[in-house]
Amino acid sequence: MPPKKCKPMDKVYVLSDFDGTITVEDAAVALLNEYCSVDWYKYVRLWERHDMSLRQSLKQMYEHIVVTKPQVEDFVQKNVRVRKGFPEFIDWCGKNHIPFTIVSEGLDVVIKATLAKYQVKTEVRTNRMLFNGNKVTIEFPETPPLCHHDDNEICGTCKSSHVKNLQDEGWTVVYIGDGKTDVRPGKMADIVFGRRALARTLTEQCHYFFPFENFVTIKERLGTIIGR
Ligand SMILES: [Mg+2]
Ligand SMILES: [Zn+2]
Repeated sequence: MPPKKCKPMDKVYVLSDFDGTITVEDAAVALLNEYCSVDWYKYVRLWERHDMSLRQSLKQMYEHIVVTKPQVEDFVQKNVRVRKGFPEFIDWCGKNHIPFTIVSEGLDVVIKATLAKYQVKTEVRTNRMLFNGNKVTIEFPETPPLCHHDDNEICGTCKSSHVKNLQDEGWTVVYIGDGKTDVRPGKMADIVFGRRALARTLTEQCHYFFPFENFVTIKERLGTIIGR
């Protein structure tokens, strides 16, 4: 199945979600379950009901985490695992001149500690954790001043803006994701690999995507599609 439009296969850019996509389990959820001082899921429900923007919801839940930076790094070291073939996929992208960037509504310290654990170097666009002892503040350095979504949503890190900016520059964008915040960018991207909530929604809305279990499958499929 070819990608949506006739896009050039010599200018391919891969964007990937982090939690539950690159990692086996959602690392941000695991951290919240371990260190959040309140029922954090109530903020997810407020967001799902459109009573709170994604940005407000993330800020509320992440700022109720009581933890120091070394504790987060230690937690990642002990608990976070990446999907099979992820480091090799990054190598393959590098050798084939395919830029790869993580776009995540998770947390920079968690992502950086995971990449260090697996000795992977790549671009990351995500939300920033600032520590004052065991108090956490969240900043959103990656989003333009405001998102421009029809439903007035305001993201933490605007994944779909990254898709759009790259497409405007002439890139064929591959998007890999698993969650609700991947639906908007997934519907815009040219080639999509999806699982879980992203796969369910794209199926319901008749958007074409490739299911995936790990990065071995993604590398094989993508290699075939783009001829590398
Ligand atoms: Mg995810
Ligand atoms: Zn946005």
